[in-house]
Amino acid sequence: MSFVSPALGPDPRPTGAAAVRALRDAVPAVHLPGTDGYARLTATSNLTRRVSPLAVVEATGAADVSATLRIAAAFGVQVGVQSTGHGATEEMRDALLVHTAALDELTVHPEERWARVGAGVRWERVLEATAPHGLAALCGSSPDVGVVGLLTGGGLGPVARSHGLSSDTVRAFEVVTGDGVLRRVTPDEHPDLFWGLRGGKGTLGIVTAVEIDLIELPELYAGGLWFAEADVPAVLRTWGRWCELLPEEGTTSAAVMRLPDMDPFPAPLRGQVTLHVRFAWTGDPAVGEEMVRAIRAVAAPVLDTVGVMPYAALGAIHADPVEPLPLHESHHLLHGFGVDGADRLLELVGPGVDSALAVVEVRQLGGRVREGEPCAYAHRDAAYSVFAVGLMIPEVAQVVTRDAARVADGLGPWVAEGGLPNFTDAAGTAWADRVFTPLVARRLRTLARTYDPAGVLLAARGVRAA
Ligand SMILES: Cc1cc2nc3c(=O)[nH]c(=O)nc-3n(C[C@H](O)[C@H](O)[C@H](O)COP(=O)(O)OP(=O)(O)OC[C@H]3O[C@@H](n4cnc5c(N)ncnc54)[C@H](O)[C@@H]3O)c2cc1C
Repeated sequence: MSFVSPALGPDPRPTGAAAVRALRDAVPAVHLPGTDGYARLTATSNLTRRVSPLAVVEATGAADVSATLRIAAAFGVQVGVQSTGHGATEEMRDALLVHTAALDELTVHPEERWARVGAGVRWERVLEATAPHGLAALCGSSPDVGVVGLLTGGGLGPVARSHGLSSDTVRAFEVVTGDGVLRRVTPDEHPDLFWGLRGGKGTLGIVTAVEIDLIELPELYAGGLWFAEADVPAVLRTWGRWCELLPEEGTTSAAVMRLPDMDPFPAPLRGQVTLHVRFAWTGDPAVGEEMVRAIRAVAAPVLDTVGVMPYAALGAIHADPVEPLPLHESHHLLHGFGVDGADRLLELVGPGVDSALAVVEVRQLGGRVREGEPCAYAHRDAAYSVFAVGLMIPEVAQVVTRDAARVADGLGPWVAEGGLPNFTDAAGTAWADRVFTPLVARRLRTLARTYDPAGVLLAARGVRAA
């Protein structure tokens, strides 16, 4: 048996090479650098993010995950986890990667309104399976994202203000903790892990399956309103004021967009500054329509998709791109926004401003996001989040980072401490310092020492160092 990578020659990392050798005897699917399987499983949707582990274990069940963690501990190697590559932040150069895509079980229990979902399943499949029963699973804006990746980071979806965080719907996790033990985790069994897995991402273990509550929500009054450049200032100011009065049945965000003048972007939106107001109303559609009237009254949208839609079509609200792109992403929490915040954002990225950022989105939080049982999701009380994205293409790459910093500085008076686990594009200590309060980090560190005594989980290195 050879352990020489076809692409890289003899492995210069001897401890890693020995761990990989042991792994290949213990688990069926181990992919080495230079192979098609390795390239497929290390692919990321942000092309600026490279994932290059020593080897990839394509897990076929919890036993593979357990064997990988035990072998890694024995050889002093760390382990990362990936399912879709949508949230990759760690390069994993000296680590092993457990890939969960093959853990694809999905069972819906419509009578009892819950589902069991494997760690490799994307939200899209859950939406398709639950829709015929008029049931909904609380996902994020993009159904292409992985269920477990989103849930372990809290999960803020298009109906978050009326229905709360996605992680609040979890009944049970099945997780292999860093010590290699498969555990069932519920509010009654290992309640400490139940606290830490909701918001702590992969700091305490590799989840192999989750059981989630489903809600009765066959339809929504929802969609997007796109406004042309000339109307952006007036609509964004109105949106800033409107949010402050919006009841919690409504969840909304507004994104200042600079879409390139090229396919696949629709003609009326590309090559200019536009505003995309996203809106979802889970109450009476007639009341939702009344709510949106205030926005529609400011200017005629160039595109208006807001209406009654099946819950399963909610990906159309944000219309996130799914194809891989080279992106610079930055994120902040705000304690307020309002008309003054809108004015400042217009000065930073509005029409007539020279900005290289393709999207700057302000999401209103609050409502039922503030409620729910205590867990490691540390910033329930934030009022808004800002997410800025720039395309790292040669024409603008140099100025994208500068413009993202300008937005963060310019919104300084509104910026709150911290960041959300799913949106903070950093690794290690930088990620943990932003995502957790000192109290949450301390509790996670204690749990990490208990359940991962050898410090095998790569995702915990931030809380261990904090
Ligand atoms: C287009 C798009 C839209 C998004 N919209 C939202 C949104 O509306 N709301 C929101 O909250 N987030 C949103 N996100 C962020 C998303 O939730 C995170 O990037 C999430 O980490 C993606 O999970 P994944 O499994 O798809 O990605 P992956 O890259 O496969 O995994 C990312 C991370 O998730 C964790 N993870 C994955 N699988 C496991 C596992 N089995 N056990 C333990 N940890 C695991 C690990 O920390 C891993 O590094 C969006 C992302 C994209 C790309």
